Amino acid sequence: MSIKAIRDFVATAEAVLVTAGAGMGVDSGLPDFRGTEGFWRAYPPIAKLGLRFEEMADPRWFVEDPELAWAFYGHRLRLYRETEPHRGFALLRDLIAAKGGEGFVFTSNVDGQFQKAGFDEKGICEVHGSIHHLQCLENCSEAIWPNDEEVPVDMERFRALHIPRCPRCGAVARPNILMFGDWGFNAARADAQALRFESWLTHNRSHRLAIIEIGAGTAVPTVRRQGEAIAASLPEARLIRINPREPQIDPALGWGLALGGLEGIATILG
Ligand SMILES: [Zn+2]
Repeated sequence: MSIKAIRDFVATAEAVLVTAGAGMGVDSGLPDFRGTEGFWRAYPPIAKLGLRFEEMADPRWFVEDPELAWAFYGHRLRLYRETEPHRGFALLRDLIAAKGGEGFVFTSNVDGQFQKAGFDEKGICEVHGSIHHLQCLENCSEAIWPNDEEVPVDMERFRALHIPRCPRCGAVARPNILMFGDWGFNAARADAQALRFESWLTHNRSHRLAIIEIGAGTAVPTVRRQGEAIAASLPEARLIRINPREPQIDPALGWGLALGGLEGIATILG
């Protein structure tokens, strides 16, 4: 494997794009919900209900059974708040700092771990939204507000003991996360991030750009496709794909490393 070529490319890059999927959180101790069995191992109460991830992450539960919906998201909210980002985040943050701040993060993760690790909020595109922001289920306004709620969960019964509400109309509030079959997602925040990302890419389009992809799988391929499209369209960009199970990549676009997130990052930067 061409570790030296990768290290040389990253060392001489003028800008860094970090693209991350669920595998990025694994070394911090977060579950990556890989497959229905993996999801159920992480959430035994949902296994008992027989719901797959795609069925649980469905906005209809906020209408039909908010205590169930908020049991799932309330538990995750607490988990993400309590989790400390692994050392790979700091290595990437330091790399971007070493490039004069020319860095951006594109992620499908809703956990806010890049912000928690000290990445600049203005340099993050959360394409599927964030659990740390709320919106009105009824969309009574365009507002998206920070999620300061405490949502305790009775894990035995898998019921939320508190339901966040819209401060304007009193309807149930939901996380500003793009769910499955989700026609009610308020995309205003994600769209604003996407615009900043586009303009950053335009600014760097002729620069030597290292795209470092971590833990982005093929099941929901948004992150992989984004990195591939950029690597294919920008002449000086190369994609470094870090993925323990799915490292395959078109050699014309870059390199694949069959490693976990932290190990892969440390290998090219450490
Ligand atoms: Zn409302």
